[in-house]
Amino acid sequence: MTKINITTLGCPKNIVDSGHLARRFASERFLYVDNPNNADIILINTCGFIRDAKEESIEEILKLSKFKTQSSKRLIVFGCLAKRYKDELVKEIPEIDAIFGVGEDSSIIEYCKGLARGERQNTKDKKQSAFSHDPLTISHPLSYRPSSIASSYAYLKIAEGCDKKCTFCVIPSIRGRFRSIQPEKILKEAREHIKNGIRELIIVAQDITKYGKEFENYNLVSLLKDIASIKGDFRIRLLYLYPTEITDELLELIAKEEKIQKYLDIPLQHSEDKILRAMGRRGTRREYIKLIRNIRRTIPGVALRTTFILGFPGETEEDFYGLADFIEEIRFDRLGVFKYSREEGTVASKLKGQVPEKLKNRRLDEIMRRQSLISLEKNKELIGKRYEAIIDEIDDNFAIARLYSHAPEIDGVVIIEKIKDRSQKSEIRIGDLVTVEIVDAFDYDLKAILTPE
Ligand code: SF4
Repeated sequence: MTKINITTLGCPKNIVDSGHLARRFASERFLYVDNPNNADIILINTCGFIRDAKEESIEEILKLSKFKTQSSKRLIVFGCLAKRYKDELVKEIPEIDAIFGVGEDSSIIEYCKGLARGERQNTKDKKQSAFSHDPLTISHPLSYRPSSIASSYAYLKIAEGCDKKCTFCVIPSIRGRFRSIQPEKILKEAREHIKNGIRELIIVAQDITKYGKEFENYNLVSLLKDIASIKGDFRIRLLYLYPTEITDELLELIAKEEKIQKYLDIPLQHSEDKILRAMGRRGTRREYIKLIRNIRRTIPGVALRTTFILGFPGETEEDFYGLADFIEEIRFDRLGVFKYSREEGTVASKLKGQVPEKLKNRRLDEIMRRQSLISLEKNKELIGKRYEAIIDEIDDNFAIARLYSHAPEIDGVVIIEKIKDRSQKSEIRIGDLVTVEIVDAFDYDLKAILTPE
């Protein structure tokens, strides 16, 4: 059996894509191995969204190319970076045997089947294969998780692409227009995850608020209701809501549906109207404040996450301090900040007033300093309180868990100590829902003990 390994870089949506591909490999009788060193074919799903992600992808390709110790091993690169910089990558990294873009699962599988049959192939010159959308990416939305890796959560991709025109973003040109995945397929995947013991389904898409735009009378609220009605003790988490498209109906559902985590990730990107307009974003500072008040009123205790871009072209000191004040005023529970990265082919890359790197770094440090204080204060307010937590990892003496306010791989965690002192009879396992009491707080993480339910 031909052994494959897939390394995934970038956002949760890439994790979902790799999952689809791995599942199709499994159905074609390829064997998934956890260690790339043991694989006959090493695949890398790359991210090309911003400069840091590009550099990480290139470093990873170079690192994995070192595993090509035997001449029969193959290195395949695909995903966003591969789509954007196909020619450059092929030229600069000769260890790459084949390169594919986004949504080319069928071509990748065919290529690998050829390798398994012992055929020598080279896709480096097949430019036409790297720029088409493979409809199977949509029609086979089942995620794959190697059976050797237990996990408490799984990502559920509900749509592909984006119709917005944010001037800094390359996603619409890479991933195409917004397309909702059929509800039956999403629900089938969700049921399968629950059956396999997954405790948290994480709903992702570039913009989940647009879900169902092609359907009659079926939207995100309908889908969430259907997912929540699946039998089982599991939770649902929502990632990436476009601020101006969040409806009262959606907020009311989140408030009343116990299975939906009271956590919303709403990338705002900036707070100042002038910058928002230049970014091609909808909404204003005033509207965002009103929206956040409404969310907090409708869903008491909600954890809010957002992301901001610092140093967008034309961002003055006044704009920056306007954003810093906004962050202080709102006091987000979670905050991601990125330095603006000038991406080829985007409208923003041609704008005047590009901000020097040094200034972007200073602004980033300033926001991170402010946010770490807010985060520490908020975490300290939790000491002595009890919460439900999902166990993600277990060691001899401690476990790593998450509260409703922690998205995996993005936010902090809860470290649960003294597992051995636990009086309950059974050992805890990955995926268990337990009750914890918070006993200490740090900038981003929490310490807790298990308590009787
Ligand atoms: S909403 Fe804007 S930032 Fe997000 S994927 Fe679409 S174009 Fe990019």
